[in-house]
Order: sequence, then C-alpha cells, then structure tokens
Amino acid sequence: MHIISHGAAQTVTGSCHILEAGGLKILLDCGFFQGKGVEMSVKNRNFPFDPKEIDFVLLSHAHIDHSGNLPQLVKKGFKGKIFCTHATYELAELLLLDSAAIQMADTDYINQKRAKEGRPFIEPLYNDTDVYECLQYFEVTEYARDIVLNKAVQFSFTNTGHIIGSAAIHVSVYNEKGKKKVFTYTGDIGRYKNRILDFPEDIPQSDFIMLEGTYGDREHDEIDTVEKKLLKYVEETCLIKKGKLIIPAFSVGRTQEIIYVLNNLSETGKLPPIDVFVDSPMAVNATEIMRRHAYLFNPEIRKIMESEDPDPFGFNRLHYIKDVKDSIALNKRTAPCIIISSSGMMEGGRVKHHLKHNIENENNSILITGYCEPSTLGGRIQSGDKQVSIYGRTYDVNANVLTLNALSAHADVNELMEYVTVGDLVKVKKLLLVHGLPQSLLSLKGRCERTGFKDVIVSEPHKAYELA
Ligand SMILES: [Zn+2]
Repeated sequence: MHIISHGAAQTVTGSCHILEAGGLKILLDCGFFQGKGVEMSVKNRNFPFDPKEIDFVLLSHAHIDHSGNLPQLVKKGFKGKIFCTHATYELAELLLLDSAAIQMADTDYINQKRAKEGRPFIEPLYNDTDVYECLQYFEVTEYARDIVLNKAVQFSFTNTGHIIGSAAIHVSVYNEKGKKKVFTYTGDIGRYKNRILDFPEDIPQSDFIMLEGTYGDREHDEIDTVEKKLLKYVEETCLIKKGKLIIPAFSVGRTQEIIYVLNNLSETGKLPPIDVFVDSPMAVNATEIMRRHAYLFNPEIRKIMESEDPDPFGFNRLHYIKDVKDSIALNKRTAPCIIISSSGMMEGGRVKHHLKHNIENENNSILITGYCEPSTLGGRIQSGDKQVSIYGRTYDVNANVLTLNALSAHADVNELMEYVTVGDLVKVKKLLLVHGLPQSLLSLKGRCERTGFKDVIVSEPHKAYELA
C-alpha cells in the first residue's frame, strides 16, 4: 500500500493523489492547478500517470482545484466510477460547466492571436460535452455509508464542513488475514465555528492520515466580528457617503455566507434600508443547491429556519440577478446599494464590470472577503495599487478598499489540530501534510510532532510513500 501526490504537494492547488491498495489504484481528487502562466497550463494538460490505469476516483468536494481535471481524466480513458456526495455532484456539475465555458472562451482568445501569427490552433482542455460525458461516471453516496470497492477495499465519507457536500475519505484495506488498515484523506477542512454549515465531523481512528494544511501557520480572526464589521462598512459607504459597496465574492460558499450575515442584520432590523443585489447566475444556482441540501446545515441555523426564518438566503430588498440586462442596469443606478458579484479574485465574471463603473468614485467601497492571488486584479487592488487595468483601460483606484478576513472556509491551525488529534495519536503510523505552502506545512509539521505524532511528512510531489 502506498500513496503518491501528483498535486497539492507543497502548494495549495491541483489536488490529485493516487492510493495504491488491495490491488486497486484509487485517485483521491483530480483538481486543477490554478494560477497564471504556461507552467500551470502544461501541468493541467498532462497527467503524470495513465488515466486508463485508475480504477476509481473518490472526490472530496466540488471546488475546481479538487475536481477541475475530471473531464480530462475521462477524455483520456478513465472508465471507472467517480464517488462523491449528492451535494458535491450537483455543485461539481455547476462548477465544471463553468470551467468548460471559461476554457472555451480562453481558447478562442488564444486562437485569435495564433491565427494572426499563422500558428496552429489549440483545443480547449475540455468543453461542455466532455463535462456531460464525465458526469455519467459519477456515483452518488452519502456520509457514513460503507462502499465496497473490491474484497479487500472499502471506503466511507465523513462531513468536513468546508463547503456543502465536502467530505473526508476513509479507505479501509484488509490483508489476507482480515486485518484492517485505515487511510484517511481529509480533503479540505472547514471551521468549528461556521454560520451555515455543520461542523467538521470526527474522523475514525486511522493508521495513516493525509491532512490539508492551507493555514498550518495561521489563526483566523474571530468569526463573531464579521457582522459588526460588515454593518460598519455598509453604514460608512451607503449611509454616510451615499456610495455603492461592491463585494467581489466566489459564487459558491462565500456569497451565501455574506448573504446570510446581511440576512441576520436585516432580520434584527440593523441593516439600513438599502437594496442588495446578488449579481451572478452561478451564485443564484449555487444558492438553490444549498437550499436543497439544508439538512447539512448546522443545528443552530436549522432551528432558526424551522421557527423564525425559513429562508436564510432571502430578505426584503435582496435581489438575485441572472439576466445580463438587469446586471447592466445596475451601472446606471445612482442610489446607494450593495452589489455582491463574482469572481472573488476579480479576474472574471460580472464584478469586473461593476469595478469598471465604480472604482474611480471615492464614495464607493470595494470589500475584499477572501484570498486574492497577488497577480490577479483583486490582488493588485488589495496591495494598494493606485491604478489598475480593467479590460485594457487604466482606472484610478479612488474607491475605498476594505477587507473582511474572518470568513475563511478553511480551518486555521488550531482547528486543524482539533480535527486531527482525535483517537490514539500513537496508532497513527504516518501523517502526511499536503495542500499548503511549504512554510505553512513545515510549521504545521512542528506542531503535530510536538503534539505526539511519530512520523510527520511534508509530502513531496510525485514521491511514493510506503504505508506499512
Ligand atoms: Zn476546497
């Protein structure tokens, strides 16, 4: 039995690990490397293994850095089943189709350039037809159900509370004498204080654990500060300065969290009487998926939904926008309002249009609610650039730039330790750390060793680790 990480090894994207056990090759996630440049594109285009040799895929959750390369896996000959939870399946469909659309648009743009240079055209990594083909291989299961893969191997999922449907994967492998070894892959771990989702579930006693370490060296701000801060920003921008508050946010998870905070402010009469627009067709669809899987919400919000407020993603003056015409109409609007729109890093989506129309007005504010890669438009705005280029034109950044950093969907170092220190630590023969930058994983390694784990490894890319 051994494990190889072909992605998310000393980096945060491209999650893709092969577990060889009980005569099977099991792929744990098959995600995209994200970021700019030719190197990423090359990594995403070329699997360092033969997809035809993979027997099963176990998918931890729908985020593109965990699921984005599945259509290509199928395109290149994978014929097995892709197991995930029901909510993950629905979100993956949404996100993979969006990913296909982005790739087709990117390829068109590149091919226009290539045509001028007389160079041959390139193909998109996959298109929507490939996504629909890939979805045929999905097999939906639920948490805590044992699924038998062959006579020596079975697995189950537990909830990690990271996004709706997210799971840790526990693979049980039996030897000829019937002795069991458990390998746990945590996928991405959520928060123990979460407004909407249920909290991460305890993992079973495991012999080997592969743990994510995105924030292995960081503690998050207290989540309780979010409501107060957001209200302050709304009042300063919309009441005092009569401006617009633009909130770039990822459509899945982050948008719903912000809506829920605003919903609470509205329900308690604290939110000033201003209109709130959610301008992103994907966010509208993702919100619908979350509503359908409300049984996965935490007990507190479920109780509120049963008694006081049946729809935590809807309140007076909240408007969901799908139609492009309605989105464009917001540009002409002069009254103060809040606009929540994707993408979070401001590289694509409708938020770029809202920035273009609002960034030069000093009465407006841009509220950054998540991590922005430094090279992205969001990253440049966050780092204080006074001028930025949007759709080829330079704009002065006169709007106020604000941040809200307590909304992370990832556990911080204390939460990671709480998650991984269940059961008997001495029985864990190997703890492999992935999904983090080197400094974060090294810091987490030290913390794990001091806590009592014997063999803690920061996984190296493409290196096989024996699990014995
Ligand atoms: Zn994730």
